[in-house]
Amino acid sequence: MRLVILGGGESGIGTAILGKKKGFDVFVSDFGKIKENYKEVLIINEIAWEEEKHTEDLILNGDLVMKSPGIPEKSPIVKKLLEKGIPVLSEIEFAAPYTNATIIGITGSNGKTTTTMLAYHLLKSAGLNVGLGGNIGKSFAWQVADNDYDSYVLELSSFQLDGIVNFKPHIAIITNISPDHLDRYDYKYENYIDSKFRITMNQTEDDYLIYDADDEAIAEWLKTHTTKAKLIPFSLTKTLSEGAYIKNNKMEISINQEEFTMDTEHIALEGKHNMKNAMAATSVAKLMQIRKLTIRESLSNFQGVEHRLEKVLKIQNVQYINDSKATNVNATFFALDSMNTPTVWIVGGVDKGNDYNELMSLVREKVKAIICLGVDNKKIIDAFGNVVDMMVEVDNMNDAVRMAQRLTEKGDTVLLSPACASFDLFENYEDRGNQFKQAVKNL
Ligand code: ADP
Repeated sequence: MRLVILGGGESGIGTAILGKKKGFDVFVSDFGKIKENYKEVLIINEIAWEEEKHTEDLILNGDLVMKSPGIPEKSPIVKKLLEKGIPVLSEIEFAAPYTNATIIGITGSNGKTTTTMLAYHLLKSAGLNVGLGGNIGKSFAWQVADNDYDSYVLELSSFQLDGIVNFKPHIAIITNISPDHLDRYDYKYENYIDSKFRITMNQTEDDYLIYDADDEAIAEWLKTHTTKAKLIPFSLTKTLSEGAYIKNNKMEISINQEEFTMDTEHIALEGKHNMKNAMAATSVAKLMQIRKLTIRESLSNFQGVEHRLEKVLKIQNVQYINDSKATNVNATFFALDSMNTPTVWIVGGVDKGNDYNELMSLVREKVKAIICLGVDNKKIIDAFGNVVDMMVEVDNMNDAVRMAQRLTEKGDTVLLSPACASFDLFENYEDRGNQFKQAVKNL
């Protein structure tokens, strides 16, 4: 069997290793450059590869193709494969049949990484032999090949889910759904929503779907579609007989006739959105039979993930917060929502079709000044120009941070939560967040 792999990144190389181990004739093709360390892995494992081209003769003869999630379905080579009727799968679809592990799959528009890391932390701290993968760290396929675990917590993007046929997590989470990546879904929000719900399409009565019951898109889909999985909702506003909710500053969970309660003040993560993430991850821990004491300890010592509402430093009693990963309005909504002091807000970058109206009342209530950090700030200026007293434009992080410092008084907060992608001025969101942290340290 010939296994062709399109894309020599983390998921591609992982799949190549697993494919080789399982006896496939493997070929990796990348239209860009393959990183040196990955090339070495291919060479050591005697796997054929090419870069900076797609040689059709070597690709269209595949029996099976694994496509990296970064490559759109519309790309010419994928179209040709589909026309020939060659199956094009994602990494998780290819790798899952080679493990008997319990799979926990986490998708959603925001909160995937935080929820995945927290769920992993809960299971790992309880002593389970658990792997962490998907969009994070080492690829799932690579781990299945090298050191198979008893269970995996996988962060799954909609692109990964688009390439599944039989893949089914035992426990699925949809953290929330808001418009994102619509360019890959013919600009149709329904298509993007359907893509997220593929996570449950192969689930059976023995499986679980954990989801945000306050989310309109999710509620609407569940009304008009069915899933066999047992539903475990979580909510900030409703009291639920089965599922997780917050009441009187307590997180209450009731699953399969078992209860769990914890004061939210003892949960290290902060902000309403993080209470949702905590409810989702704790529901996983309950389903995996983790002891209450262990869950409590883990929730009280999990400090969050870098670049997500990350507290950087307090300087002259001004708190600096790095939320560079907020690349859409929904993420920034929750960042602003969790601010308790007057805020200087650094925002801007590459706008993916933002509707800033959703932020209007929070900005009115909490933001004293806006610093626009983007090449084109027109939409932000139009939206908030009349709403805040101070608005400035800058084109680099040092100026943004210095300006922010000038506009603050004791007790204020400086929040980088851009609501936009970073590619106009930075390499990626990590670069943006790191530059912010460095600039703050230089103050
Ligand atoms: P993802 O992996 O889905 O991008 P992250 O955990 O990396 O999610 O968080 C991305 C951004 O969204 C951060 O700015 C974070 O503070 C914010 N965020 C985290 N959880 C949620 C949530 N449940 N709802 C809305 N925003 C969230």
